[in-house]
Amino acid sequence: MNVLILSIVLLLSFNIFSGLDFKYPYTVPTLPYEYKSLEPYIDEQTMKLHHDAHHKTYVDNLNAVLVDNKKLQAKDLEWLLRNLNTIEDTQTQTTIKNNGGGHWNHSFFWKIMAPDCQKLSNKKLMKEIKKQFGSFDKFKDQFNAAAKKVFGSGWAWLCVDQNKKLVIITTPNQESPISQGLEPILGLDVWEHAYYLKYQNKRIDYISSFWHVINWRQVEMNYSFAIK
Ligand code: MN
Repeated sequence: MNVLILSIVLLLSFNIFSGLDFKYPYTVPTLPYEYKSLEPYIDEQTMKLHHDAHHKTYVDNLNAVLVDNKKLQAKDLEWLLRNLNTIEDTQTQTTIKNNGGGHWNHSFFWKIMAPDCQKLSNKKLMKEIKKQFGSFDKFKDQFNAAAKKVFGSGWAWLCVDQNKKLVIITTPNQESPISQGLEPILGLDVWEHAYYLKYQNKRIDYISSFWHVINWRQVEMNYSFAIK
């Protein structure tokens, strides 16, 4: 690929995380692959429902709470999520936390999965993973354990903290790590709607399958962006 085109593609993929694509009125982003592409790990019907129905509901609710609020319409979604406590009306604040978080988290989630998954190859990220967790396998075990123990609905994340250190965290419901000042680079949705059709109550099997569909190129780009 031509270097110029590659740079533009890279810039565009960064933009979704710098908030530039997150402006009112919000829309559900197109999936970057087909619904069935993540099979057999994540099934087509789940992807359709998850993307077209669940994600759309967060977007619709977010637009609805902002429809008469010109001041907040002017802010981008990342600003809203990073400054939740500046939103005085508590009902508006909660609706944005739940539905703005839902929109941000899912937009992020679709991109860190892909059908033709390669291995992690970024040396700096691998070195940091080994430094923080001991080895890649230990990191995987810790991430899986965190995802497994989320009680009810929520997410597991690998984030870069304010000191540029890697941390594994979980968030309840649709709370986003960016509201805590963290930069997520990998995340797993462990709401039942993300896996119940195929895995029923076996969340651990869904978590294991997730490792087959991680888009490491995107995770590496997220990491490079987060440590800048
Ligand atoms: Mn979800």
